[in-house]
Amino acid sequence: MHSFDYDRADSVDTALQLGKEPGARFVAGGTNLLDLIKAGVERPQRLVDVGRLPLASIDATPDGGIRIGAMVGNADAADHPLVRAHYPLLQAALLAGASPQLRNMATIGGNLMQRTRCHYFYDIGFDACNKRDPGSGCAARDGVQRQHAILGASEHCIATHPSDMCVALVALDASVVVRSAGGERRIPVEDFHRLPGDTPERDTNLEAGELIVAVELPPSRCGAHCHYLKVRDRASYAFALVSVAAALQLDGGIVRAARIVLGGVAHKPWRAQAAEQSLRDRPLDEAALRRTAALAVQGARPYPGNAFKVELAQRAVIRALSIAGGMR
Ligand code: SF4
Repeated sequence: MHSFDYDRADSVDTALQLGKEPGARFVAGGTNLLDLIKAGVERPQRLVDVGRLPLASIDATPDGGIRIGAMVGNADAADHPLVRAHYPLLQAALLAGASPQLRNMATIGGNLMQRTRCHYFYDIGFDACNKRDPGSGCAARDGVQRQHAILGASEHCIATHPSDMCVALVALDASVVVRSAGGERRIPVEDFHRLPGDTPERDTNLEAGELIVAVELPPSRCGAHCHYLKVRDRASYAFALVSVAAALQLDGGIVRAARIVLGGVAHKPWRAQAAEQSLRDRPLDEAALRRTAALAVQGARPYPGNAFKVELAQRAVIRALSIAGGMR
């Protein structure tokens, strides 16, 4: 059994001080990290419990947006009046994730940091996993690829990012607020997670010694013209095969701006910018939907086990946009 030290931080400064020690990891709800420790994938020397830091409120911001503390629970965020009233896309994505029990424990900060659910990553009986052991290879490339990426992958890793919440946050132009001994900085959620490239062991652009303290959302511009669609193997408690966060700014029947972000298809939430552009200043009709869906999967490089996702993603984009646009 792997042993480690445990500290509970009572302030952000204390957490940062404890967290900079070699082998230290922050933990809050523990819904992912503790599984990884039990599986032998993670072997921290010290756990710094940040779950009781005073970062558990959701507040309106002067610009009309909201700031969600990193320690807010996923269930609490989904049920908050400001989220329910102004960010139904985020609420739907939060409620699509995991199970009620897990949503009660999981935090907004932890959701951003959760790691891929690639089976080969979790099972240390498989030697080849570049994410777990850089340079060892990738068992998934010749294995079962049903959950794996069709976009943005590399020869070193074809894993997918598992979060539903993050897909919606990208569509809502949210930012992650992180703090370190050097101060505070903001990272757009779109740039927070990384494609695997030749460093698949790095999931995010968080630097050593940085702690997530909040997520900030600008005022929602899509109103009710948004939809989160999740396609999975079971009706609940399953990760997305494909998901789509669609958000539209409509002027009459004309699309003035669009956000189309896919989950379950890449190592990070995949923003389909060419697809978004194709909708701009045009009516949302059947031809536009088909054109947009094709652009959303442009450049896809599927494996035999996940080739179905290319068609599935296009159908999901059409359906999500249709609902967001009031066509269904
Ligand atoms: Fe590891 Fe990535 Fe390959 Fe999965 S896809 S086995 S996480 S390198």
